[in-house]
Amino acid sequence: MLKGKTALVTGSTSGIGQGIAEALAAQGANIVLNGFGEAAAIEKLRGEIAAQNGVTVRYDGADMSQPAEIARLVKQAQDEFGAIDVLVNNAGIQYVAPIEEFPDERWDAVIAINLSAAFHATKAALPAMRKTGWGRIINIASAHGLSASAEKSAYVAAKHGIVGLTKVIGLEIADHGVTCNAICPGWVLTPLVKKQIEDRAAATGRSYEETKLEMVAEKTPSKDFSTPEQIGGLAAFLCSASADQITGAPLSIDGGWMAQ
Ligand code: NAD
Repeated sequence: MLKGKTALVTGSTSGIGQGIAEALAAQGANIVLNGFGEAAAIEKLRGEIAAQNGVTVRYDGADMSQPAEIARLVKQAQDEFGAIDVLVNNAGIQYVAPIEEFPDERWDAVIAINLSAAFHATKAALPAMRKTGWGRIINIASAHGLSASAEKSAYVAAKHGIVGLTKVIGLEIADHGVTCNAICPGWVLTPLVKKQIEDRAAATGRSYEETKLEMVAEKTPSKDFSTPEQIGGLAAFLCSASADQITGAPLSIDGGWMAQ
């Protein structure tokens, strides 16, 4: 389906981004991996995705909080592969604290990585997509792009922001063969969420397993996590011809969280 096309997936050295990179590579796309981590582990992941799918996979460690690095990342990928056909704005961080105690520097970092990075990457990648008349922009928002939880001011603001940004981009490019959608996962058991479980377990003195079940059941009628593979499957669907007319849409994959 994506043979000969190239996908840039930000924050794909872990979790949901990795699941999306693997799913798009399985459809034949060349991949630009991005994110932080240990060099040997990233090189192993790069090699595995390339070998398992017979595609070219490159890694770029651009810091998505830095607009100049984002512009450089997009241009370099376009120069090397000829195009970025699929842009997945996925890199994200979390910080949990009541608003009176929320550090200014954490607010700025969450907004920069979870929201502004998607603006800068889209701005850089869109002109070439417009020109070729085909493209996919997939923003990884969250259930927190549609509803709120206490103590997540920066994250909820950034995720609501990215849902709004998705609608604007969808409108601006609606008749150019390019779609822009937001995937809104509920709980996915990745390092980002494992840390929240560990912090809450430490604060309450309850076990990790007990806290994990309590956290997922609190919000999720299905009482289960989504997986990076399932999010990857939805991203791959959004790249298919069946999704040509889906644009500007927030798409929930959350075990019923948003239905409440
Ligand atoms: P994760 O911590 O497993 O992965 C985050 C990725 O982003 C990593 O590759 C990390 O290196 C990268 N990253 C962080 N800061 C970066 C920076 N400055 N520059 C470049 N890369 C950077 O987390 P995850 O759970 O896979 O989250 C991925 C996305 O999915 C995030 O946008 C997150 O908000 C969103 N999301 C996660 C969940 C969940 O339950 N895990 C739910 C809804 C939405």
